[in-house]
Amino acid sequence: MTGYSNPKILNSRDTVTSNPATGTINEKPLLPPLQPQDINKKCLVIDLDETLVHSSFKPVKNPDFVIPVEIDGVEHQVYVLKRPYVDEFLAKVGEHFECILFTASLAKYADPVADLLDKKKVFRGRLFREACVFHKGNYVKDLSRLGRQLNQTLIIDNSPASYAFHPENAVPVTTWFDDPADTELLDILPSLEHLNGFQSIYDLYRPEEGPNSELLNHCSC
Ligand SMILES: [Mg+2]
Repeated sequence: MTGYSNPKILNSRDTVTSNPATGTINEKPLLPPLQPQDINKKCLVIDLDETLVHSSFKPVKNPDFVIPVEIDGVEHQVYVLKRPYVDEFLAKVGEHFECILFTASLAKYADPVADLLDKKKVFRGRLFREACVFHKGNYVKDLSRLGRQLNQTLIIDNSPASYAFHPENAVPVTTWFDDPADTELLDILPSLEHLNGFQSIYDLYRPEEGPNSELLNHCSC
């Protein structure tokens, strides 16, 4: 987020100071049971801000969406820019994965953004800030709480802190603000397709070689 971010609704890693990670045993899963059409598909957890869109309280030229959000009884306008190729990206991953939106932002902002962004209903579930774990000043997305097999789960996120508990499940993406020439969402599609071809996502991962992105950089996909 830019200087006009409001941590009350958008994710800001600077606003959390305590709250250690909580235990995850015997918790109700964050996600409902798999839908029949998604059985045998891997779960793709997708971040929102700076991965698929960039939002700001500062008016921008030609925003894709303007979302009214009420904060402390006052309505604010949030200006949303879509990352280039986000429509193509969502259409493609929606064919092959059970896609879950997982954002550290609040639902009152992220839900209406998702409504406008996800016209084809690619997202099978939406998880917001309350689904994150506060850990060492960051909102961490604990994939073990989803209710999906970890070896069938991938996360795409611009913030490594988001997947600090499961770096081996991550397909990192660069942070996007407003570069109209960005092609990252197209560029990672071959890597995702490659990973999707493995029975377990860990089949490609060798811990001694670092996170998946390192391997992906070397594979011929
Ligand atoms: Mg993000």
